[in-house]
Amino acid sequence: MEIETEATAAEHESQADGDGAAPVAAESFDVHNPADGSVVRTLPIDGPERVHEVAARVRAAQPEWEAMGIAGRYRWLGKLRDWLISNGDRVADVMQAESGKVRADAALETPYVADAINFYGENGPRFLADEHPTPHLPLFRVRRLTITYRPYAVVGIISPWNFPLILSLGDAIPALTAGAAVVIKPSEFTPLSLIEVVRAWKEEIGGPDVLDVVNGGGETGGALIDEVDFIQFTGSERTGKIVMKRAADTLTPVSLELGGKDPMIVLADADLERATNAAAWGGLVNSGQVCMSIERVYVEEPIYDEFVSTLTDKVQKLRQGMDARDYEADVGAMTTPAQVEIVDDHVEDARRAGARILTGGKRKDGPGDWYEPTVIADADHSMKAMTEETFGPTIPVMKVRDAEEAVRLANDTRYGLSASVFSGDRERGESIARRIECGAVNVNDVLSNYQQLPLPMGGWKSSGIGFRHGAYGIRKFVRSEAITSPRIRPLASELQWFPYNNRKRSIIRGIYRFFNARGLRERLGISRRS
Ligand code: NAD
Repeated sequence: MEIETEATAAEHESQADGDGAAPVAAESFDVHNPADGSVVRTLPIDGPERVHEVAARVRAAQPEWEAMGIAGRYRWLGKLRDWLISNGDRVADVMQAESGKVRADAALETPYVADAINFYGENGPRFLADEHPTPHLPLFRVRRLTITYRPYAVVGIISPWNFPLILSLGDAIPALTAGAAVVIKPSEFTPLSLIEVVRAWKEEIGGPDVLDVVNGGGETGGALIDEVDFIQFTGSERTGKIVMKRAADTLTPVSLELGGKDPMIVLADADLERATNAAAWGGLVNSGQVCMSIERVYVEEPIYDEFVSTLTDKVQKLRQGMDARDYEADVGAMTTPAQVEIVDDHVEDARRAGARILTGGKRKDGPGDWYEPTVIADADHSMKAMTEETFGPTIPVMKVRDAEEAVRLANDTRYGLSASVFSGDRERGESIARRIECGAVNVNDVLSNYQQLPLPMGGWKSSGIGFRHGAYGIRKFVRSEAITSPRIRPLASELQWFPYNNRKRSIIRGIYRFFNARGLRERLGISRRS
Protein backbone atom coordinates (compact mmCIF):
# COMPACT_ATOMS: atom_id res chain seq x y z
CA MET A 1 0.00 0.00 0.00
CA GLU A 2 1.52 3.33 -0.99
CA ILE A 3 0.62 6.34 1.10
CA GLU A 4 -0.01 9.65 -0.66
CA THR A 5 -0.16 13.20 0.60
CA GLU A 6 -3.13 15.23 1.82
CA ALA A 7 -3.10 17.40 -1.28
CA THR A 8 -3.49 14.51 -3.72
CA ALA A 9 -5.96 12.75 -1.48
CA ALA A 10 -8.37 15.69 -1.54
CA GLU A 11 -8.73 15.25 -5.28
CA HIS A 12 -9.61 11.61 -5.07
CA GLU A 13 -12.90 10.12 -5.85
CA SER A 14 -15.62 9.49 -3.36
CA GLN A 15 -15.94 6.02 -1.85
CA ALA A 16 -19.14 4.08 -1.76
CA ASP A 17 -20.91 6.66 0.35
CA GLY A 18 -23.13 7.60 -2.51
CA ASP A 19 -23.37 11.28 -1.62
CA GLY A 20 -20.93 12.30 -4.33
CA ALA A 21 -18.82 14.37 -1.92
CA ALA A 22 -15.13 13.50 -1.68
CA PRO A 23 -14.39 12.66 1.96
CA VAL A 24 -11.52 14.60 3.43
CA ALA A 25 -8.74 12.18 4.25
CA ALA A 26 -5.27 12.82 5.54
CA GLU A 27 -3.76 10.09 3.42
CA SER A 28 -4.59 7.87 0.51
CA PHE A 29 -3.45 4.62 -1.04
CA ASP A 30 -3.06 3.17 -4.47
CA VAL A 31 -4.74 0.00 -5.65
CA HIS A 32 -2.50 -1.75 -8.19
CA ASN A 33 -3.19 -4.17 -11.00
CA PRO A 34 -1.02 -7.16 -10.03
CA ALA A 35 -0.86 -8.31 -13.66
CA ASP A 36 1.23 -5.30 -14.73
CA GLY A 37 1.83 -3.16 -11.64
CA SER A 38 -0.18 -0.19 -12.92
CA VAL A 39 -2.25 1.96 -10.53
CA VAL A 40 -5.95 1.23 -11.00
CA ARG A 41 -7.34 3.75 -8.56
CA THR A 42 -6.34 5.83 -5.54
CA LEU A 43 -8.56 5.95 -2.48
CA PRO A 44 -8.56 8.00 0.69
CA ILE A 45 -7.74 6.18 3.91
CA ASP A 46 -10.58 6.30 6.42
CA GLY A 47 -9.29 7.32 9.82
CA PRO A 48 -11.01 6.64 13.15
CA GLU A 49 -13.32 9.68 12.84
CA ARG A 50 -14.69 8.63 9.49
CA VAL A 51 -15.08 5.03 10.71
CA HIS A 52 -17.02 6.31 13.72
CA GLU A 53 -19.23 8.43 11.49
CA VAL A 54 -20.05 5.50 9.17
CA ALA A 55 -20.73 3.10 12.05
CA ALA A 56 -22.99 5.66 13.76
CA ARG A 57 -24.93 6.23 10.54
CA VAL A 58 -25.66 2.54 9.89
CA ARG A 59 -26.41 2.05 13.60
CA ALA A 60 -29.12 4.72 13.33
CA ALA A 61 -30.70 2.91 10.37
CA GLN A 62 -30.53 -0.58 11.91
CA PRO A 63 -33.67 -0.59 14.12
CA GLU A 64 -35.91 0.00 11.09
CA TRP A 65 -34.05 -2.72 9.18
CA GLU A 66 -34.54 -5.15 12.07
CA ALA A 67 -38.21 -4.24 12.41
CA MET A 68 -38.79 -5.11 8.74
CA GLY A 69 -38.49 -8.84 9.50
CA ILE A 70 -36.62 -11.41 7.43
CA ALA A 71 -39.17 -11.35 4.62
CA GLY A 72 -38.81 -7.58 4.22
CA ARG A 73 -35.03 -7.77 4.35
CA TYR A 74 -34.98 -10.62 1.82
CA ARG A 75 -37.00 -8.45 -0.55
CA TRP A 76 -34.22 -5.83 -0.45
CA LEU A 77 -31.42 -8.38 -0.63
CA GLY A 78 -33.23 -10.06 -3.52
CA LYS A 79 -32.81 -6.80 -5.43
CA LEU A 80 -29.09 -7.02 -4.73
CA ARG A 81 -29.12 -10.65 -5.97
CA ASP A 82 -30.80 -9.56 -9.21
CA TRP A 83 -28.28 -6.74 -9.65
CA LEU A 84 -25.36 -9.14 -9.08
CA ILE A 85 -26.75 -11.59 -11.63
CA SER A 86 -27.21 -8.83 -14.22
CA ASN A 87 -23.89 -7.12 -13.53
CA GLY A 88 -21.61 -10.10 -12.86
CA ASP A 89 -19.38 -9.30 -15.84
CA ARG A 90 -18.95 -5.68 -14.84
CA VAL A 91 -17.97 -6.67 -11.30
CA ALA A 92 -15.58 -9.37 -12.58
CA ASP A 93 -13.86 -6.76 -14.80
CA VAL A 94 -13.18 -4.61 -11.73
CA MET A 95 -12.06 -7.61 -9.70
CA GLN A 96 -9.65 -8.86 -12.34
CA ALA A 97 -7.98 -5.45 -12.46
CA GLU A 98 -7.43 -5.27 -8.71
CA SER A 99 -6.54 -8.92 -8.02
CA GLY A 100 -4.80 -10.39 -11.08
CA LYS A 101 -7.30 -13.27 -11.12
CA VAL A 102 -8.09 -15.06 -14.35
CA ARG A 103 -11.65 -14.56 -15.57
CA ALA A 104 -12.97 -17.92 -14.37
CA ASP A 105 -11.77 -17.23 -10.80
CA ALA A 106 -13.15 -13.67 -10.76
CA ALA A 107 -16.45 -14.82 -12.26
CA LEU A 108 -17.03 -17.23 -9.35
CA GLU A 109 -17.78 -14.54 -6.83
CA THR A 110 -21.06 -12.84 -7.70
CA PRO A 111 -22.87 -16.19 -8.23
CA TYR A 112 -21.74 -17.31 -4.76
CA VAL A 113 -23.12 -14.13 -3.16
CA ALA A 114 -26.42 -14.45 -5.07
CA ASP A 115 -26.68 -18.05 -3.88
CA ALA A 116 -26.01 -16.99 -0.27
CA ILE A 117 -28.76 -14.34 -0.49
CA ASN A 118 -31.28 -17.01 -1.46
CA PHE A 119 -29.96 -19.58 1.00
CA TYR A 120 -30.28 -17.27 4.00
CA GLY A 121 -33.42 -15.54 2.70
CA GLU A 122 -35.15 -18.91 2.39
CA ASN A 123 -33.68 -20.73 5.40
CA GLY A 124 -33.19 -17.74 7.69
CA PRO A 125 -36.77 -17.82 9.02
CA ARG A 126 -36.17 -21.43 10.15
CA PHE A 127 -32.65 -20.79 11.52
CA LEU A 128 -33.84 -17.78 13.53
CA ALA A 129 -37.36 -18.86 14.44
CA ASP A 130 -38.44 -18.51 18.06
CA GLU A 131 -38.11 -21.73 20.01
CA HIS A 132 -40.34 -22.88 22.86
CA PRO A 133 -38.51 -25.59 24.80
CA THR A 134 -40.52 -27.71 27.21
CA PRO A 135 -39.61 -26.96 30.84
CA HIS A 136 -37.34 -29.74 32.02
CA LEU A 137 -39.18 -30.34 35.32
CA PRO A 138 -42.96 -30.93 35.34
CA LEU A 139 -43.49 -28.35 38.08
CA PHE A 140 -42.09 -25.66 35.76
CA ARG A 141 -44.71 -26.36 33.11
CA VAL A 142 -46.72 -23.45 34.40
CA ARG A 143 -44.28 -21.26 32.52
CA ARG A 144 -44.00 -20.66 28.81
CA LEU A 145 -40.38 -20.63 27.70
CA THR A 146 -39.21 -18.74 24.63
CA ILE A 147 -35.83 -18.35 22.97
CA THR A 148 -35.75 -15.50 20.54
CA TYR A 149 -32.79 -14.38 18.39
CA ARG A 150 -31.91 -10.70 18.20
CA PRO A 151 -29.17 -9.33 15.93
CA TYR A 152 -26.07 -7.47 16.98
CA ALA A 153 -26.84 -3.92 15.91
CA VAL A 154 -23.63 -3.37 13.91
CA VAL A 155 -21.41 -6.12 12.56
CA GLY A 156 -17.91 -5.22 11.35
CA ILE A 157 -16.32 -7.38 8.67
CA ILE A 158 -12.59 -7.27 7.98
CA SER A 159 -11.72 -9.21 4.86
CA PRO A 160 -8.63 -10.40 2.93
CA TRP A 161 -7.63 -9.90 -0.69
CA ASN A 162 -7.98 -13.39 -2.10
CA PHE A 163 -11.78 -13.41 -2.57
CA PRO A 164 -12.86 -9.77 -2.37
CA LEU A 165 -16.63 -10.46 -2.44
CA ILE A 166 -17.02 -14.02 -1.19
CA LEU A 167 -15.14 -13.22 2.02
CA SER A 168 -16.82 -9.87 2.65
CA LEU A 169 -20.38 -9.99 1.30
CA GLY A 170 -20.44 -13.73 1.94
CA ASP A 171 -20.58 -12.91 5.66
CA ALA A 172 -22.44 -9.62 5.25
CA ILE A 173 -25.43 -11.42 3.68
CA PRO A 174 -26.27 -13.61 6.71
CA ALA A 175 -25.59 -10.66 9.04
CA LEU A 176 -27.95 -8.41 7.07
CA THR A 177 -30.53 -11.18 6.80
CA ALA A 178 -30.38 -11.52 10.59
CA GLY A 179 -31.21 -7.82 10.91
CA ALA A 180 -27.78 -6.35 11.66
CA ALA A 181 -26.24 -3.36 9.91
CA VAL A 182 -22.82 -4.07 8.40
CA VAL A 183 -19.63 -2.09 7.84
CA ILE A 184 -16.94 -3.83 5.80
CA LYS A 185 -13.23 -3.03 5.82
CA PRO A 186 -11.99 -4.80 2.68
CA SER A 187 -8.34 -5.55 2.06
CA GLU A 188 -6.44 -2.44 0.98
CA PHE A 189 -5.18 -4.52 -1.98
CA THR A 190 -8.64 -5.35 -3.40
CA PRO A 191 -11.37 -2.93 -2.23
CA LEU A 192 -12.73 -1.92 -5.64
CA SER A 193 -15.16 -4.68 -6.56
CA LEU A 194 -16.81 -4.43 -3.15
CA ILE A 195 -17.02 -0.64 -3.45
CA GLU A 196 -18.77 -1.13 -6.79
CA VAL A 197 -21.38 -3.48 -5.29
CA VAL A 198 -22.03 -1.22 -2.29
CA ARG A 199 -22.32 1.76 -4.63
CA ALA A 200 -24.98 -0.15 -6.56
CA TRP A 201 -26.81 -1.04 -3.30
CA LYS A 202 -27.01 2.65 -2.49
CA GLU A 203 -27.36 4.37 -5.83
CA GLU A 204 -29.02 1.88 -8.17
CA ILE A 205 -31.04 -0.26 -5.77
CA GLY A 206 -31.70 2.50 -3.22
CA GLY A 207 -31.20 0.01 -0.37
CA PRO A 208 -31.55 1.07 3.28
CA ASP A 209 -28.47 2.68 4.82
CA VAL A 210 -27.34 -0.48 6.61
CA LEU A 211 -24.36 -1.48 4.47
CA ASP A 212 -21.17 0.50 4.01
CA VAL A 213 -17.45 0.26 3.39
CA VAL A 214 -14.46 1.87 5.10
CA ASN A 215 -11.05 1.80 3.47
CA GLY A 216 -7.47 1.51 4.58
CA GLY A 217 -5.14 -0.95 6.25
CA GLY A 218 -4.62 -2.09 9.83
CA GLU A 219 -5.40 1.25 11.43
CA THR A 220 -8.79 1.46 9.77
CA GLY A 221 -9.48 -2.18 10.69
CA GLY A 222 -8.57 -1.46 14.31
CA ALA A 223 -10.84 1.58 14.40
CA LEU A 224 -13.69 -0.54 13.06
CA ILE A 225 -13.24 -3.10 15.85
CA ASP A 226 -13.73 -0.29 18.39
CA GLU A 227 -17.05 0.76 16.83
CA VAL A 228 -18.97 -2.46 16.25
CA ASP A 229 -20.83 -5.06 18.31
CA PHE A 230 -19.44 -8.15 16.56
CA ILE A 231 -16.36 -8.61 14.41
CA GLN A 232 -16.07 -11.13 11.59
CA PHE A 233 -12.44 -11.40 10.54
CA THR A 234 -10.97 -13.39 7.66
CA GLY A 235 -7.23 -13.22 7.14
CA SER A 236 -3.93 -14.41 8.48
CA GLU A 237 -3.36 -16.08 11.82
CA ARG A 238 -1.03 -13.23 12.83
CA THR A 239 -3.60 -10.48 12.22
CA GLY A 240 -6.35 -12.65 13.71
CA LYS A 241 -4.56 -12.61 17.05
CA ILE A 242 -4.17 -8.81 16.90
CA VAL A 243 -7.88 -8.46 16.09
CA MET A 244 -8.90 -10.71 18.98
CA LYS A 245 -6.72 -8.75 21.42
CA ARG A 246 -8.16 -5.43 20.30
CA ALA A 247 -11.71 -6.78 20.50
CA ALA A 248 -11.01 -7.83 24.08
CA ASP A 249 -10.77 -4.13 25.07
CA THR A 250 -14.46 -3.66 24.35
CA LEU A 251 -15.46 -7.30 25.00
CA THR A 252 -16.57 -7.51 21.39
CA PRO A 253 -17.18 -11.09 20.23
CA VAL A 254 -15.18 -12.29 17.25
CA SER A 255 -15.35 -14.98 14.63
CA LEU A 256 -11.99 -15.68 13.01
CA GLU A 257 -11.44 -17.48 9.69
CA LEU A 258 -7.68 -17.85 9.42
CA GLY A 259 -5.03 -19.66 7.42
CA GLY A 260 -4.64 -23.27 6.45
CA LYS A 261 -2.20 -25.90 5.25
CA ASP A 262 -4.69 -28.31 3.75
CA PRO A 263 -3.46 -31.86 3.08
CA MET A 264 -4.59 -34.18 0.32
CA ILE A 265 -4.15 -37.90 0.89
CA VAL A 266 -4.04 -40.16 -2.17
CA LEU A 267 -4.35 -43.89 -1.46
CA ALA A 268 -3.06 -46.54 -3.85
CA ASP A 269 -6.59 -47.51 -4.95
CA ALA A 270 -7.55 -43.95 -5.96
CA ASP A 271 -8.69 -42.95 -9.44
CA LEU A 272 -5.41 -41.42 -10.60
CA GLU A 273 -6.94 -39.30 -13.36
CA ARG A 274 -9.38 -37.66 -10.97
CA ALA A 275 -6.82 -37.32 -8.18
CA THR A 276 -4.26 -35.57 -10.40
CA ASN A 277 -6.91 -33.28 -11.93
CA ALA A 278 -8.07 -32.47 -8.41
CA ALA A 279 -4.55 -31.78 -7.14
CA ALA A 280 -3.84 -29.48 -10.09
CA TRP A 281 -7.04 -27.48 -9.63
CA GLY A 282 -7.14 -27.61 -5.82
CA GLY A 283 -3.52 -26.48 -5.58
CA LEU A 284 -3.54 -23.83 -8.30
CA VAL A 285 -7.03 -22.31 -8.50
CA ASN A 286 -6.80 -18.58 -7.84
CA SER A 287 -3.00 -19.03 -8.15
CA GLY A 288 -3.11 -21.13 -4.98
CA GLN A 289 -4.31 -18.14 -2.99
CA VAL A 290 -7.20 -19.93 -1.33
CA CYS A 291 -7.33 -20.62 2.40
CA MET A 292 -8.45 -24.17 1.52
CA SER A 293 -5.90 -24.71 -1.27
CA ILE A 294 -4.31 -28.11 -1.49
CA GLU A 295 -1.01 -27.10 0.12
CA ARG A 296 0.58 -30.57 0.49
CA VAL A 297 -0.09 -33.99 -1.04
CA TYR A 298 0.69 -37.39 0.50
CA VAL A 299 0.70 -40.25 -1.99
CA GLU A 300 0.99 -43.96 -1.17
CA GLU A 301 4.20 -45.51 -2.43
CA PRO A 302 2.82 -47.85 -5.17
CA ILE A 303 1.34 -44.98 -7.21
CA TYR A 304 3.71 -42.16 -6.21
CA ASP A 305 5.84 -42.04 -9.39
CA GLU A 306 2.85 -42.21 -11.72
CA PHE A 307 0.97 -39.60 -9.68
CA VAL A 308 3.89 -37.17 -9.81
CA SER A 309 4.52 -37.55 -13.54
CA THR A 310 0.82 -37.32 -14.49
CA LEU A 311 0.36 -34.26 -12.27
CA THR A 312 3.44 -32.58 -13.75
CA ASP A 313 2.15 -33.15 -17.30
CA LYS A 314 -1.16 -31.57 -16.40
CA VAL A 315 0.38 -28.56 -14.66
CA GLN A 316 2.74 -27.96 -17.61
CA LYS A 317 -0.27 -27.70 -19.92
CA LEU A 318 -1.94 -24.93 -17.89
CA ARG A 319 -2.09 -21.50 -19.51
CA GLN A 320 -0.78 -18.77 -17.24
CA GLY A 321 -1.70 -15.21 -18.14
CA MET A 322 -4.37 -12.57 -17.96
CA ASP A 323 -7.53 -13.20 -19.96
CA ALA A 324 -10.77 -11.27 -20.17
CA ARG A 325 -14.33 -12.29 -20.97
CA ASP A 326 -12.94 -15.02 -23.29
CA TYR A 327 -11.86 -17.31 -20.41
CA GLU A 328 -8.59 -18.18 -22.10
CA ALA A 329 -6.27 -18.46 -19.10
CA ASP A 330 -6.13 -20.95 -16.21
CA VAL A 331 -3.70 -19.42 -13.73
CA GLY A 332 -3.37 -15.71 -13.12
CA ALA A 333 -1.03 -13.39 -11.28
CA MET A 334 -0.48 -13.33 -7.54
CA THR A 335 -2.27 -10.51 -5.80
CA THR A 336 0.54 -9.04 -3.70
CA PRO A 337 4.32 -8.75 -4.17
CA ALA A 338 4.83 -9.94 -0.57
CA GLN A 339 3.03 -13.19 -1.37
CA VAL A 340 5.39 -13.80 -4.32
CA GLU A 341 8.32 -13.46 -1.90
CA ILE A 342 6.84 -16.09 0.43
CA VAL A 343 6.29 -18.54 -2.44
CA ASP A 344 9.81 -18.00 -3.72
CA ASP A 345 11.22 -18.54 -0.23
CA HIS A 346 9.32 -21.82 0.23
CA VAL A 347 10.34 -23.17 -3.18
CA GLU A 348 14.02 -22.27 -2.69
CA ASP A 349 13.96 -23.78 0.80
CA ALA A 350 12.56 -27.04 -0.64
CA ARG A 351 15.10 -27.03 -3.45
CA ARG A 352 17.96 -26.61 -0.96
CA ALA A 353 16.58 -29.43 1.19
CA GLY A 354 16.68 -31.87 -1.74
CA ALA A 355 13.18 -31.69 -3.29
CA ARG A 356 12.85 -31.93 -7.08
CA ILE A 357 11.16 -28.96 -8.79
CA LEU A 358 9.52 -30.69 -11.75
CA THR A 359 7.91 -27.66 -13.34
CA GLY A 360 7.75 -23.94 -12.57
CA GLY A 361 9.85 -22.97 -9.57
CA LYS A 362 10.44 -19.37 -10.54
CA ARG A 363 8.88 -15.97 -11.03
CA LYS A 364 7.58 -15.15 -14.47
CA ASP A 365 9.58 -12.56 -16.42
CA GLY A 366 8.13 -9.09 -16.98
CA PRO A 367 6.13 -6.64 -14.89
CA GLY A 368 3.56 -7.61 -12.26
CA ASP A 369 3.42 -10.25 -9.53
CA TRP A 370 3.71 -13.62 -11.23
CA TYR A 371 4.95 -17.01 -10.09
CA GLU A 372 4.87 -20.05 -12.34
CA PRO A 373 2.66 -23.04 -11.42
CA THR A 374 5.04 -25.36 -9.60
CA VAL A 375 5.21 -29.07 -8.76
CA ILE A 376 7.62 -30.01 -5.96
CA ALA A 377 8.34 -33.75 -5.72
CA ASP A 378 10.03 -35.65 -2.86
CA ALA A 379 8.96 -33.03 -0.33
CA ASP A 380 9.03 -33.76 3.40
CA HIS A 381 8.29 -32.09 6.72
CA SER A 382 11.77 -30.55 7.02
CA MET A 383 10.61 -28.06 4.33
CA LYS A 384 8.57 -24.89 4.81
CA ALA A 385 6.58 -25.86 1.70
CA MET A 386 5.06 -28.70 3.75
CA THR A 387 4.68 -27.01 7.14
CA GLU A 388 3.98 -23.27 6.63
CA GLU A 389 1.15 -21.69 4.68
CA THR A 390 2.51 -20.94 1.19
CA PHE A 391 -0.65 -19.39 -0.29
CA GLY A 392 0.68 -19.63 -3.82
CA PRO A 393 0.79 -21.79 -6.97
CA THR A 394 2.82 -24.69 -5.60
CA ILE A 395 1.95 -28.38 -5.16
CA PRO A 396 4.45 -30.16 -2.93
CA VAL A 397 4.12 -33.97 -3.05
CA MET A 398 5.47 -36.44 -0.50
CA LYS A 399 5.70 -40.23 -0.74
CA VAL A 400 4.19 -42.16 2.21
CA ARG A 401 4.37 -45.84 3.14
CA ASP A 402 0.68 -46.23 3.91
CA ALA A 403 -2.54 -44.55 5.00
CA GLU A 404 -1.42 -44.53 8.64
CA GLU A 405 1.64 -42.45 7.86
CA ALA A 406 -0.46 -40.15 5.67
CA VAL A 407 -2.96 -39.51 8.49
CA ARG A 408 -0.19 -38.89 11.01
CA LEU A 409 1.52 -36.37 8.70
CA ALA A 410 -1.77 -34.72 7.71
CA ASN A 411 -2.39 -34.03 11.41
CA ASP A 412 1.17 -32.86 12.03
CA THR A 413 0.31 -29.16 11.70
CA ARG A 414 -0.95 -26.32 13.82
CA TYR A 415 -3.62 -25.63 11.20
CA GLY A 416 -6.93 -27.45 10.76
CA LEU A 417 -9.05 -25.87 8.05
CA SER A 418 -9.88 -28.69 5.63
CA ALA A 419 -8.47 -31.73 3.83
CA SER A 420 -9.06 -34.22 1.01
CA VAL A 421 -8.86 -38.00 0.85
CA PHE A 422 -8.80 -39.94 -2.42
CA SER A 423 -9.61 -43.64 -2.40
CA GLY A 424 -11.43 -46.11 -4.65
CA ASP A 425 -13.35 -47.18 -1.57
CA ARG A 426 -15.66 -44.39 -0.41
CA GLU A 427 -16.24 -45.94 3.01
CA ARG A 428 -12.52 -46.20 3.63
CA GLY A 429 -12.17 -42.58 2.49
CA GLU A 430 -14.87 -41.48 4.95
CA SER A 431 -13.34 -43.44 7.79
CA ILE A 432 -9.97 -41.74 7.19
CA ALA A 433 -11.79 -38.39 6.97
CA ARG A 434 -13.04 -38.90 10.54
CA ARG A 435 -9.45 -39.16 11.78
CA ILE A 436 -8.23 -35.88 10.31
CA GLU A 437 -8.19 -32.96 12.73
CA CYS A 438 -9.86 -30.19 10.76
CA GLY A 439 -13.16 -28.46 10.01
CA ALA A 440 -14.03 -30.25 6.75
CA VAL A 441 -12.86 -33.18 4.63
CA ASN A 442 -13.74 -33.76 0.98
CA VAL A 443 -13.65 -37.41 -0.08
CA ASN A 444 -12.57 -37.81 -3.71
CA ASP A 445 -12.95 -34.07 -4.12
CA VAL A 446 -11.24 -30.77 -3.31
CA LEU A 447 -12.58 -27.49 -1.88
CA SER A 448 -16.14 -28.60 -2.59
CA ASN A 449 -17.41 -28.21 0.98
CA TYR A 450 -17.35 -24.41 0.52
CA GLN A 451 -20.16 -24.56 -2.04
CA GLN A 452 -22.33 -26.62 0.29
CA LEU A 453 -24.02 -23.81 2.17
CA PRO A 454 -25.86 -26.08 4.65
CA LEU A 455 -22.48 -27.34 5.98
CA PRO A 456 -20.50 -25.45 8.61
CA MET A 457 -17.22 -24.08 7.23
CA GLY A 458 -14.46 -23.10 9.63
CA GLY A 459 -11.15 -24.03 11.11
CA TRP A 460 -9.86 -26.01 14.07
CA LYS A 461 -6.65 -25.19 15.91
CA SER A 462 -4.88 -22.10 14.48
CA SER A 463 -7.24 -21.99 11.50
CA GLY A 464 -9.88 -20.10 13.38
CA ILE A 465 -12.66 -19.67 15.86
CA GLY A 466 -16.24 -20.06 14.75
CA PHE A 467 -17.83 -21.16 11.50
CA ARG A 468 -19.63 -19.67 8.55
CA HIS A 469 -22.44 -21.20 6.48
CA GLY A 470 -25.37 -23.28 7.66
CA ALA A 471 -27.42 -22.28 10.68
CA TYR A 472 -24.25 -21.26 12.51
CA GLY A 473 -23.37 -18.78 9.75
CA ILE A 474 -26.40 -16.64 10.63
CA ARG A 475 -26.80 -17.48 14.33
CA LYS A 476 -23.38 -16.07 15.13
CA PHE A 477 -24.72 -12.62 14.20
CA VAL A 478 -27.55 -12.82 16.73
CA ARG A 479 -27.81 -13.10 20.47
CA SER A 480 -30.28 -15.43 22.07
CA GLU A 481 -32.78 -13.79 24.38
CA ALA A 482 -34.65 -16.01 26.82
CA ILE A 483 -38.20 -15.03 27.81
CA THR A 484 -40.31 -16.66 30.50
CA SER A 485 -43.93 -15.88 31.15
CA PRO A 486 -46.68 -17.57 33.23
CA ARG A 487 -49.02 -19.87 31.31
CA ILE A 488 -51.77 -19.44 33.91
CA ARG A 489 -52.68 -16.53 36.10
CA PRO A 490 -49.94 -16.55 38.75
CA LEU A 491 -50.45 -16.34 42.50
CA ALA A 492 -49.61 -13.17 44.38
CA SER A 493 -46.35 -14.70 45.58
CA GLU A 494 -44.06 -17.67 44.80
CA LEU A 495 -42.83 -20.34 47.15
CA GLN A 496 -39.24 -19.21 46.75
CA TRP A 497 -39.95 -15.51 47.38
CA PHE A 498 -39.80 -13.67 50.72
CA PRO A 499 -40.44 -14.27 53.49
CA TYR A 500 -38.30 -17.40 53.90
CA ASN A 501 -39.35 -19.95 56.46
CA ASN A 502 -38.67 -23.54 57.33
CA ARG A 503 -41.88 -24.92 55.88
CA LYS A 504 -41.40 -23.32 52.47
CA ARG A 505 -37.74 -24.41 52.34
CA SER A 506 -38.63 -28.01 53.14
CA ILE A 507 -41.34 -28.07 50.45
CA ILE A 508 -38.85 -26.77 47.87
CA ARG A 509 -36.21 -29.27 49.03
CA GLY A 510 -38.76 -32.06 48.82
CA ILE A 511 -39.83 -31.11 45.31
CA TYR A 512 -36.24 -30.99 44.00
CA ARG A 513 -35.48 -34.30 45.71
CA PHE A 514 -38.59 -35.87 44.24
CA PHE A 515 -37.67 -34.94 40.69
CA ASN A 516 -33.91 -35.44 40.86
CA ALA A 517 -33.34 -38.42 43.12
CA ARG A 518 -33.41 -41.85 41.50
CA GLY A 519 -35.31 -44.70 43.22
CA LEU A 520 -38.65 -44.39 45.00
CA ARG A 521 -37.24 -44.39 48.57
CA GLU A 522 -34.70 -41.70 47.66
CA ARG A 523 -37.38 -39.61 45.96
CA LEU A 524 -39.64 -39.74 48.96
CA GLY A 525 -36.74 -39.12 51.34
CA ILE A 526 -37.24 -42.41 53.22
CA SER A 527 -33.88 -43.24 54.76
CA ARG A 528 -32.57 -46.81 54.41
CA ARG A 529 -31.60 -48.75 57.52
CA SER A 530 -27.98 -49.75 57.48
P1 NAD B 1 -4.15 -10.21 6.53
O1 NAD B 1 -4.29 -10.79 7.88
O2 NAD B 1 -2.87 -9.57 6.17
O3 NAD B 1 -5.26 -9.08 6.30
C1 NAD B 1 -6.63 -9.35 6.43
C2 NAD B 1 -7.37 -8.06 6.72
O4 NAD B 1 -6.98 -7.58 8.00
C3 NAD B 1 -7.07 -6.93 5.73
O5 NAD B 1 -8.27 -6.26 5.46
C4 NAD B 1 -6.13 -6.05 6.51
O6 NAD B 1 -6.13 -4.69 6.12
C5 NAD B 1 -6.67 -6.20 7.92
N1 NAD B 1 -5.73 -5.85 8.97
C6 NAD B 1 -4.37 -5.88 8.92
N2 NAD B 1 -3.86 -5.50 10.12
C7 NAD B 1 -4.91 -5.24 10.93
C8 NAD B 1 -5.03 -4.81 12.28
N3 NAD B 1 -3.95 -4.57 13.01
N4 NAD B 1 -6.26 -4.65 12.78
C9 NAD B 1 -7.35 -4.90 12.04
N5 NAD B 1 -7.32 -5.31 10.75
C10 NAD B 1 -6.10 -5.47 10.20
O7 NAD B 1 -4.54 -11.36 5.51
P2 NAD B 1 -4.47 -11.33 3.93
O8 NAD B 1 -3.03 -11.35 3.55
O9 NAD B 1 -5.34 -10.25 3.40
O10 NAD B 1 -5.17 -12.74 3.54
C11 NAD B 1 -4.47 -13.92 3.46
C12 NAD B 1 -4.75 -14.77 4.68
O11 NAD B 1 -6.14 -14.97 4.87
C13 NAD B 1 -4.17 -16.17 4.55
O12 NAD B 1 -3.57 -16.57 5.76
C14 NAD B 1 -5.40 -17.02 4.27
O13 NAD B 1 -5.27 -18.37 4.61
C15 NAD B 1 -6.42 -16.34 5.10
N6 NAD B 1 -7.77 -16.68 4.63
C16 NAD B 1 -8.59 -17.43 5.41
C17 NAD B 1 -9.85 -17.80 4.96
C18 NAD B 1 -10.80 -18.64 5.78
O14 NAD B 1 -11.98 -18.66 5.47
N7 NAD B 1 -10.32 -19.36 6.79
C19 NAD B 1 -10.26 -17.38 3.69
C20 NAD B 1 -9.39 -16.64 2.92
C21 NAD B 1 -8.16 -16.26 3.40
